[in-house]
Amino acid sequence: MIEIENVSKWFGKLKVLDNVNETISKGQVVVICGPSGSGKSTLLKTLNGLEPFQEGDIRVDGISLKDPGTNFMKLRQKMGMVFQRFELYPHMKVIENITIAPIKLLNQSKSQAEQKAIELLEKVGITEQAHKYPGNLSGGQQQRVAIARALAMEPDIMLFDEPTSALDPEMIKEVLDVMVNLANSGMTMVVVTHEMGFAKEVADEIIFMDQGRIIERGTDKSFFENPESQRAKDFLEKII
Ligand code: ADP
Ligand code: MG
Repeated sequence: MIEIENVSKWFGKLKVLDNVNETISKGQVVVICGPSGSGKSTLLKTLNGLEPFQEGDIRVDGISLKDPGTNFMKLRQKMGMVFQRFELYPHMKVIENITIAPIKLLNQSKSQAEQKAIELLEKVGITEQAHKYPGNLSGGQQQRVAIARALAMEPDIMLFDEPTSALDPEMIKEVLDVMVNLANSGMTMVVVTHEMGFAKEVADEIIFMDQGRIIERGTDKSFFENPESQRAKDFLEKII
């Protein structure tokens, strides 16, 4: 579903992605971890065309991001993205936050979009918040709205960039539970997170990045029980 081939990217003189290779199949959950500044967010953003890259290629469902004819609007619709900060529209009610894109971009009718939004709010466990403004919700609830909003566009792939790292500890689990359910429902997911419990539970593959490179990868057990590189060992000791 996603093929990343020899991708390198620079910000000016700084090489932030260094010959990255990775293949993600339909239904797979890939967790990306690594120290701050290692290029995790940049890699996610290259996947949906938010960040250009200078070398290599990325193909999504066989469509090359390097092809000048590629429709990036369409590509982004296939990929839902959830950020560390929820970035909901503060002046719109929860239900409007969820329905605006499907109405505008998928040409859904208002009632159709609202019905779907209620289903999604049920899925993330907060139907009772539908008519509130984001500012009146807790961080965990807002992040669940952000997930519902992304799902409303019926994406094939969900990208998460440290979705729980801005949350108070007691709210982390409610968001991770939603993500675990999504993973178990068969969604293809690329998740930047340091929540290793989540990684152990649902990741098909864990990637460890450092200085723009993937320096280690493994299935859950091999990665946690026996990291090969000293850098991954040091990193895991700090976060677990
Ligand atoms: P991570 O998500 O792993 O913390 P990032 O992908 O955000 O890392 O950043 C990788 C590197 O690229 C860092 O050195 C960061 O300072 C740099 N960087 C990120 N975004 C920009 C930008 N827009 N312009 C210049 N440098 C950037
Ligand atoms: Mg980041």
